[in-house]
Amino acid sequence: MPDSRMMNKNGMVSNIQTRIRTDSFKSNYDLVGKELGRGKFAVVKKCIEKATGKEHAAKFLRKRRKGEDCRTDIIHEIAVLESAKSNPFVVSLLEVYEDTSEIILVLECAAGGEIFNQCVADNDEAFTEQDVIRLVRQILTGVACLHRNNVVHLDLKPQNILLTSSRPLGDIRIVDFGLSRCMDNVTEVREIVGTPEYVAPEILNFEPISTATDMWSIGVLTYVMLTGESPFLGGDKQETFLNISQVNVDYSQDVFEGVSSLAVDFIKSLLVKNPRKRATAEECLKHHWLSGHTHLHLLSSHLPSLDEPETEQSESEPEPESPASS
Ligand code: ADP
Ligand code: MG
Repeated sequence: MPDSRMMNKNGMVSNIQTRIRTDSFKSNYDLVGKELGRGKFAVVKKCIEKATGKEHAAKFLRKRRKGEDCRTDIIHEIAVLESAKSNPFVVSLLEVYEDTSEIILVLECAAGGEIFNQCVADNDEAFTEQDVIRLVRQILTGVACLHRNNVVHLDLKPQNILLTSSRPLGDIRIVDFGLSRCMDNVTEVREIVGTPEYVAPEILNFEPISTATDMWSIGVLTYVMLTGESPFLGGDKQETFLNISQVNVDYSQDVFEGVSSLAVDFIKSLLVKNPRKRATAEECLKHHWLSGHTHLHLLSSHLPSLDEPETEQSESEPEPESPASS
């Protein structure tokens, strides 16, 4: 957990353990292939460590953005990655380099790319409900661990959840702690940057953020992974904001065709306007959709009531088909 004494009032951490190298990144690494991805602030490229031949990902962060010095933000991002070192579902930070204009984070390479790609994929490439159950369980395990350490990510979306491999489907890695905060003494309200699709109502209303803010995003994320549709996305930003603040969500059979009612119930426990009434990560992990026996979950709309004892089924029994998206 980040040292709270070194935290400023905005939930930013300024002390890091990692030695910042000032020798040349290029003399230790070769850049290979085209970029792995890019976000609002960074470009990420695949690199090979010359000494070992190992593949990593290098995240290039400019220290000045729009004429402002952003070094403190980058140091905070490093501090949070350090604090999550033992979290198996957070990307590992290996080394940090700094030159006059940039800070370079050498990260574990998540070769499977963003889960975004499979969220918008055609049927045969898209996630099955079984995939989503496994991946959401991993996301929640990672996020529960962050929340136990008072870290809120604040930017959970399919572009920031990566896979160790895509075929076969690997494990998730949470990346991009650029907007994250330590909750101990946050007085700040988060500025709305980029796409609002995954942003919780309290952020739009400039109310305080909390770990529940991440839980809303996990609700949106799960919806997208199962249906391929973004629940609040409107024709423009204003419409999206309105959909979010009115919690205007389509749970119809049309959208959730072939998806279990337990999955819908799970999403409903997260897309709740009042952050205090939203399920926590720990509560989600106990939700029957994720904790129960796998086969029964997929029997869309013909589920036994939760009070009925479940009958054990053998592993060899075929599982019902469950296309993840239309
Ligand atoms: P930003 O803060 O600019 O959004 P991110 O950390 O999200 O930067 O990185 C931008 C993109 O680069 C990600 O959405 C992802 O596609 C890719 N990326 C980031 N980290 C890794 C990694 N460790 N392995 C593979 N790809 C990565
Ligand atoms: Mg990002």
